[in-house]
Amino acid sequence: MIFEQVTIIGLGLIGSSIARALRAHNMVRTIIAADISQNVCKVFQSLDLADRVTDDLENSVRDSDLVIIAVPVGAFEAVARLIGPALEPGAILTDTGSVKCSVISQILPHLPDHVRFIPAHPIAGTEHSGPEAGFAELFIGRWCILTPLPESDPRAVEKLTALWTGFGAKVEIMTPEHHDIALGITSHLPHLIAYTIVGTAADLENQTRNDVIRFSASGFRDFTRIAASDPIMWRDIFLHNKESVLSILQQFNEDLTALQRAIRDGNSAILEETFTRGRAIRRAVIEAGQADYVYPEKTPAPTPDEEPPPPESAPGTSRRS
Ligand code: NAP
Repeated sequence: MIFEQVTIIGLGLIGSSIARALRAHNMVRTIIAADISQNVCKVFQSLDLADRVTDDLENSVRDSDLVIIAVPVGAFEAVARLIGPALEPGAILTDTGSVKCSVISQILPHLPDHVRFIPAHPIAGTEHSGPEAGFAELFIGRWCILTPLPESDPRAVEKLTALWTGFGAKVEIMTPEHHDIALGITSHLPHLIAYTIVGTAADLENQTRNDVIRFSASGFRDFTRIAASDPIMWRDIFLHNKESVLSILQQFNEDLTALQRAIRDGNSAILEETFTRGRAIRRAVIEAGQADYVYPEKTPAPTPDEEPPPPESAPGTSRRS
């Protein structure tokens, strides 16, 4: 047992997956689960994943030596304000927010000095949300990034590392600023592009739109899967990682304009060079073990008109983070 009593606040995909993983690996004695929504609490109760389920956030953290906040990025301030005064001396507070600088600045003003705060972000997820979407294997083989503060207790970092590796994740430590830039490129920008492409298709006149959907196996399908991600979660991510995303978008726009010019000018060398670089990056992703991971119980059956998957991957749920 790494911890005696853990409180999980926010019982959606990530919070419920953590509860399942804690149970599966028998890592804590007691699990307290809390969510602002009575309906979510009711569903969670029926899943039998915690010793107590409550919508009383403040009291949910009493006596817990670990508190994990897994709410949308825009809701951290409200949660921290409620639970801050009730946190136990020496308790470790962590989170799963997809943006780090903003989450830290929302939480810090409400923390008593006696609490050990270690921000975290598991790079694992699917396009589904809610308590029923979670599963214990979600974190296996995925990264969990910890962004300790200069004053963070190294023993607390060690305990949290043990928790995430116990879930099957790999742990990396970096600064919150670096995290927000890195995830801006690898996760936030691709989501923005997916939302844009799917939005453009939705605006097409009827016949063309129908064709886009019928022939979606030629690439569009993968964007629709990413664009199916939770709208509240992604609204908050873009509003709270504004600076990083805007600066990456600037670079992206310039690169897109260069490709546009290459197509207009018939500059085959630039097109070929860019696409060859893309292939090399894909190869590096596969070699790093980060190519599509198949979660067996979530794998949708392929429909007959779908293209077969490329050899190195298989159809499965996408991760978002
Ligand atoms: P989710 O499935 O939407 O679950 C979030 C839960 O938090 C919902 O039950 C929501 O209730 C509840 N909630 C909202 N405001 C709250 C508040 N003020 N107090 C208590 N509970 C509140 O979201 P998720 O996908 O698990 O994501 C949770 C966090 O992990 C987010 O910060 C996200 O950025 C991060 N994350 C997500 C992924 C992913 O792929 N999903 C991956 C890595 C990290 P309502 O439904 O009633 O609003």
